[in-house]
Amino acid sequence: MSLLTVGTMAYDALETPFGKTDRILGGAATYIALSASYHVAKSNIVSVVGADFEQAHLDLLKSKGADLEGVQIIKNGKTFFWSGKYHLDMNTRDTIDTQLNVLADFNPTVPEAYKDAKYLMLGNLMPSIQQQVLDQLPQRPKLVVLDTMNFWMDNCWDDLVEALKGVDVLTINDEEARQMSGEYSLVKGAKKIMTMGPKYLIIKKGEHGALLFHEEQIFSAPALPLEEVFDPTGAGDTFAGGFIGYLAKTDDISFENMKRAVIWGSAMASFTVEKFGTERIANLTNEEINERLEEFKALVSVDIQLV
Ligand code: AMP
Repeated sequence: MSLLTVGTMAYDALETPFGKTDRILGGAATYIALSASYHVAKSNIVSVVGADFEQAHLDLLKSKGADLEGVQIIKNGKTFFWSGKYHLDMNTRDTIDTQLNVLADFNPTVPEAYKDAKYLMLGNLMPSIQQQVLDQLPQRPKLVVLDTMNFWMDNCWDDLVEALKGVDVLTINDEEARQMSGEYSLVKGAKKIMTMGPKYLIIKKGEHGALLFHEEQIFSAPALPLEEVFDPTGAGDTFAGGFIGYLAKTDDISFENMKRAVIWGSAMASFTVEKFGTERIANLTNEEINERLEEFKALVSVDIQLV
């Protein structure tokens, strides 16, 4: 089932309590495509990079089934750059630097061959670009998922509110849900956010798991308690890729199936945090994934009798 992703392709410089990296491969679309590749043999990407984007990184994405016809390479431009530093608890981070570079003038063009997308992942980037991609599709996809972050809430609130009107599922973290709704209670906040457009809301809570909301229903997925979290960068995007990839593969967007997709997203994200950048998510075996899914099944299952 055709999956189209728009999002950043980036270079990141990261600092965690366990070490520092120089410019390494990152970006929302990168993590999403790598994570979704364990479900769909082929996916399409709309993004933009500069001449500094390495061929080896394009090749990595291609080797995972990503079609890059929709990725513009700007000859005199520099790739989007982000640098972040994590606090000791690893649940919070500071953005040190965001250099939009080629993203600042990005005018996305959806190739003809991508226009029948059934599953659309509007990965984290400017809300107006997310909107432009949706607007270029002649038929509305079966499912539209949007991910965003505080940076865009702070800088492009009105565009974000507009983009949310055309979305089925919104994924954000707990802090962002509080900022977006103005409510401390996530349950109250979720109700408010679901009046803004999305019929489903996923609130990611880092090491405390994720909540899926739809009308009066709530599903709570744990995060795998890991002994070591090395670098949380990309966990949210990896989650999104696992979530929409699973839905695209199964072509079932019922609430029951979304619960499974949330577990898939959580399982994939649990790999990403084990190493810096994309290293872990780019190289997984089916055995490793199955083992992890078994761990999740054990974590969520309980046999209990009513009084
Ligand atoms: P996550 O940890 O899932 O929130 O995603 C981290 C990735 O998002 C990094 O690889 C960054 O390159 C990318 N990123 C950081 N800031 C932004 C932003 N403002 N817009 C889009 N992508 C971003």
